[in-house]
Amino acid sequence: MTTLTPILSKNWDRPDSFTLAAYREDGGYQALRTALGMEPDAIVDLVKASGLRGRGGAGFPTGMKWGFLPKDNPNPRYLVVNADESEPGTCKDMPLLLANPHALVEGIAIASYAIKSRNAFVYVRGEVLHVIRRLRHAVAEAYEAGLLGTDILGSGFDLDVVVHSGAGAYICGEETALLDSLEGYRGQPRLKPPFPAVAGLYASPTVVNNVESIASVPSIVANGADWFTSMGTEKSAGFGFFSLSGHVTRPGQYEAPLGVTLRELLDMAGGVRNGHRLKFWTPGGSSTPIFTDAHLDTPLDFESVGAAGSMLGTRALQIFDETTSVVRAVRGWIEFYAHESCGKCTPCREGNFWMAQVLRRIEAGKGTEEDVAKLLDICDNLLGRSFCALGDGATSPVTSAIKYFREEFIAGTHTPAWELFPYQRTTRW
Ligand code: NAD
Ligand code: SF4
Repeated sequence: MTTLTPILSKNWDRPDSFTLAAYREDGGYQALRTALGMEPDAIVDLVKASGLRGRGGAGFPTGMKWGFLPKDNPNPRYLVVNADESEPGTCKDMPLLLANPHALVEGIAIASYAIKSRNAFVYVRGEVLHVIRRLRHAVAEAYEAGLLGTDILGSGFDLDVVVHSGAGAYICGEETALLDSLEGYRGQPRLKPPFPAVAGLYASPTVVNNVESIASVPSIVANGADWFTSMGTEKSAGFGFFSLSGHVTRPGQYEAPLGVTLRELLDMAGGVRNGHRLKFWTPGGSSTPIFTDAHLDTPLDFESVGAAGSMLGTRALQIFDETTSVVRAVRGWIEFYAHESCGKCTPCREGNFWMAQVLRRIEAGKGTEEDVAKLLDICDNLLGRSFCALGDGATSPVTSAIKYFREEFIAGTHTPAWELFPYQRTTRW
């Protein structure tokens, strides 16, 4: 039986958990002191040995990414933290920044030292003013205490950290669109390669990492790689946040080893809301194919979720019970993608617009059987033909929902979703 591993969330019940004093009381910034006594490359090796994989969704090995920075490029190096969390259902980085911002600030200082960067940026989604204020407060506290700025802890290492507010565009969470936006341009994805590690911010070598990835680094420096690999699975080491939302008794953040199952998490969260049963769920936000109750025992690690036909993504577990129309849920997600498509490439810009139209028709009971085929056809034209992951991701809920609940889409040829699912409050088209 897997149990919770409160590491980053350990002190969240403390009303002052976000302050430097509270963080230090619990050993905060000791890892930075340790790191500053090490060779930078030794820290990169330590993070590689820990097996930490990117917590922003893609799961790319963090230490390997740091190791990609070219040694012969004379340009300055940058660390950019992606705090533009906006994937539907994804809600782990914002509570982490509110309750424990110093874990990120300490992680930034260690990571910057390791990759030999003197300038770090945190790009925070623009809608969350209270989070931005709290993070800026933490950064100011760290400067004041000599933990950022010049000659950090007397080590001779200098680092400046800038907290930058986005302007509310989902696409700016895509790392290269984020870099464009940070440079002051309209945020649209760049062609990769070159990856940011080679030509990122201001065309210089740049590491872009998610908030949770960087905030996990101090615990690895403090406790060692073996401690980290003792949690999780062989290829998906460590712990992470699992964000339960929707029709669940106690929604929230559950920090647990990778490989935990939804059944175990639901046991901890009081189960699906009283009197109801699980119908479908997302393992990692709306860009990952949905799962059903047949997947309750799938270990939530990168490999097992992939083998079962989905992706671990951001571990945003959105739970839907039997009162939910899957057509309606998918329509909502596709309207989001249609709205957030940056418009740079035709398959995504047009495809999501048309999928939203077709889904509305099916939801209103005015669809045809050809509409279901049309949805799959549009997905075929999006997947692998879009410029970035937004277009690819939009096909996931559509194709997986049709795979598991085709009969509900066919029912949309004669009966509106609000008659099939009368308990669900819904807009009538
Ligand atoms: P990706 O697999 O293309 O890249 C992952 C990371 O590895 C990037 O930083 C990339 O630069 C780096 N990388 C990959 N190959 C490399 C190479 N050969 N050399 C150097 N660096 C390399 O994935 P992505 O497009 O960055 O992210 C997609 C994921 O984002 C999805 O799986 C989704 O779960 C997630 N996502 C998260 C949110 C959120 O709010 N957190 C929102 C949307 C999507
Ligand atoms: Fe823009 Fe969508 Fe194309 Fe990505 S896939 S570049 S978001 S239009």
